[in-house]
Amino acid sequence: MPTLRANFHDLTREALRLLTVRWGFSPVHAARLWRYVYLDRIEAWELMTDLPVRYRDRAAAELALTHPEIAVETHSSDGFTRKYLLALADDRRIETVLMRFTGRVTACISSQAGCAMGCVFCATGQMGFTRHLSAGEIVAQALHVNRVLHSLNPGERLRNIVLMGMGEPLHNYDAVMTATEILCDTAGLSLGTKQITLSTVGVVPGIVRLADEGRPIHLAVSLHGATQEERAALVPVAKKWPLDALMEACRYYIAKQQRRIFYEWTLIEGKNDTAENAHAVGRLLHGQDAQVNLIPLNPTAGFAGIPTGQEAARRFQTILAEYNLPSTIRQRRGIDIAAGCGQLANAR
Ligand code: SAH
Ligand code: SF4
Repeated sequence: MPTLRANFHDLTREALRLLTVRWGFSPVHAARLWRYVYLDRIEAWELMTDLPVRYRDRAAAELALTHPEIAVETHSSDGFTRKYLLALADDRRIETVLMRFTGRVTACISSQAGCAMGCVFCATGQMGFTRHLSAGEIVAQALHVNRVLHSLNPGERLRNIVLMGMGEPLHNYDAVMTATEILCDTAGLSLGTKQITLSTVGVVPGIVRLADEGRPIHLAVSLHGATQEERAALVPVAKKWPLDALMEACRYYIAKQQRRIFYEWTLIEGKNDTAENAHAVGRLLHGQDAQVNLIPLNPTAGFAGIPTGQEAARRFQTILAEYNLPSTIRQRRGIDIAAGCGQLANAR
């Protein structure tokens, strides 16, 4: 029977060191192996010629150094966005998006196959939950984007990661945090923790844990409704983690981390984009160190809403400014290939 090998990318550098020592080899080999994979982008064991053959053989027998296959690749017509449908080892599919706007390269990464949170306007929510991704499967998406960038322009490196793809990252807390540790490892990809933004639907215990653990990544919280009733109509898990508790957790996070929270607000015409809605957001967030990112609704098969137009979105922004709340209107990119916020699914 073939032995089941562990995924190399599930390991932090420290875990690889411990494993190496347990196998009876020097930690120096572990450090060299780590650099081969994360700095030199070498995946073939036989090319790791600085390592003793016995160590290489043992590592190759115990650890799988593979990456997900690209099942489908699509490019947006404006050339800024590429979307990859990746096939995992068990043939589950996830989507990863590469965005290359002037001066900024960002990977939008998935944390789960599907999502259990059921937000009505989101394609991932509409497909339901399949499974959590492992840390290695999350890391592999960043490596994939890095490989693509390297092939396009050898000088180009991945600089920003948003955990805003498929899934709810705080529902898969441990794997996501291990992945961020691997991505930020200074002997590897060396991403700055400030270059990683995690977006949550509002998993209250996860927000508190992030604050308590002092995780230095940026936090975005999806709000969409400024009263409990309005929010729960769009975000079913608001029934489990009500708005009051969410706001309390957010204030705790800001105070403890001394860091601003980004709130996301999907703008749906006639539903949550009126002047009264904007005032309600202003009252709710007034006094917090917060920024609001407004996202005009992207189309999905299972939700009939219409995106708010530019003029109404700007009016919303003007009202938020009256409450000293800075805001941005997210540019709609990649919509022609269904790579926009909330459009990721694997049903094709
Ligand atoms: N599960 C996390 C992160 C993934 S969704 C979360 O919900 O925050 C990333 C962002 O896209 C969230 O702010 C989400 O509310 C938003 N979004 C989902 N569906 C959308 C749609 N159809 N149009 C615009 N934004 C959408
Ligand atoms: Fe899940 Fe986020 Fe989509 Fe809600 S918006 S269903 S939490 S991925």
